[in-house]
Amino acid sequence: MASIFTKIINGEIPCHKLDENESYFSFLDINPIRPGHALVIPKVEVDYMFDLDDELLAGLHVFAKRIAAAIKEVVPCKRIGTTVLGLEVPHAHLHLVPIDEIHGINFSLSQPASHEELASLAEKIRDKLKD
Ligand code: 5GP
Repeated sequence: MASIFTKIINGEIPCHKLDENESYFSFLDINPIRPGHALVIPKVEVDYMFDLDDELLAGLHVFAKRIAAAIKEVVPCKRIGTTVLGLEVPHAHLHLVPIDEIHGINFSLSQPASHEELASLAEKIRDKLKD
């Protein structure tokens, strides 16, 4: 069965998309640790990040670089932290999280965000990606 993230890529489940190309896709997490928390995924459905082939794994980070820069322009923070867990959704994904301190990536802070909040933030980040 297709993963939730494959369904998002295929438009079967809605998301607040930030960007995509032929190999990668990025969208806001619906339960952000803090506003601006985004996910970056390969379009190919592979569960474990380190099972991606070398080129796809490296390219995921290159794709994420632009997204992180755009988030950082919109969300005041010291930097964009990255982490990979993959314990919930079996489709490799990189978390991009605005952080100000070492404990900034704390998943116990995850909370559902409203559609309006996510839509407004995604629009601002997409605007920066146009630059
Ligand atoms: P992980 O697999 O890394 O432990 O966590 C999966 C992440 O995906 C969580 O942060 C969760 O909020 C997010 N997530 C799960 N389902 C959806 C969804 O349908 N849409 C979006 N935008 N994010 C999701």
